[in-house]
Amino acid sequence: GTIGAITPTEDDIPTSISKAVVEDMDRTYYPLKPIVPFAEPVHDRINLEIMRGCPHTCRFCISSIIKAPLRFRSVQNLTDLAEQIYQNTGYDEISLFSLSSSDYPWLDELLVRLSGRFKARRVGLSLPSLHINEKLKDLPGVINAVRKTGFTLAPETGRDCLRQIINKPIDDKEFFQAVCAAYQNGWQLIKLYFMIGLPGETEADIRAIPEMIKKASYLGKEIKGSPGNINVTISPFTAKPHTPFQWV
Ligand code: SF4
Repeated sequence: GTIGAITPTEDDIPTSISKAVVEDMDRTYYPLKPIVPFAEPVHDRINLEIMRGCPHTCRFCISSIIKAPLRFRSVQNLTDLAEQIYQNTGYDEISLFSLSSSDYPWLDELLVRLSGRFKARRVGLSLPSLHINEKLKDLPGVINAVRKTGFTLAPETGRDCLRQIINKPIDDKEFFQAVCAAYQNGWQLIKLYFMIGLPGETEADIRAIPEMIKKASYLGKEIKGSPGNINVTISPFTAKPHTPFQWV
């Protein structure tokens, strides 16, 4: 059956409730004294949330919907936060995280500022979440200060046509350019994320995934003399509520 209506059970509860949104990211609370455990956890570093929301609209993605609208912290605010958290924890790595960190509009300036401040203290920077775009092709050249632990990309599918269906408007050419740029700038490990079972997928799309991985590894041989080390995650698609694919 279908739901006919949803009504409040109490008189003082409004019929529709608006989402609470932090409008000014610079003025909201940020944990300045995170616990530093004795054991080494997975995310053993300063985590700086540089923006909230995502400018992209991948049709399977719930994160961009529930984290909307797109908001940014300023470079000055992030620099101040990094300094205070460093003073309180002594961590030697700062992760600039968000849903799509290469879309942060002042990323170059932020990297230069943080690198200038922390390089002498041997504190590295990392970018855990990158979107393949025009900016990314140039990015590795300006992030010499970034730790080369792993260069993470999420092409999601093996072929351009399925990427258009899921509304991830990147093409193979851009993807391989980003992979080449990563090798040229010293990354040894490329982490790739794919999904299978997406609406509109054909067997050809699935077969294209290992081909894409092989080529990404082979490019390492061409550029740096040995095959690239590729770490692959393949997840099954599950339809999420509030996304365009919730009905498929
Ligand atoms: S780029 Fe990532 S976070 Fe943004 S909409 Fe696509 S999958 Fe979601």
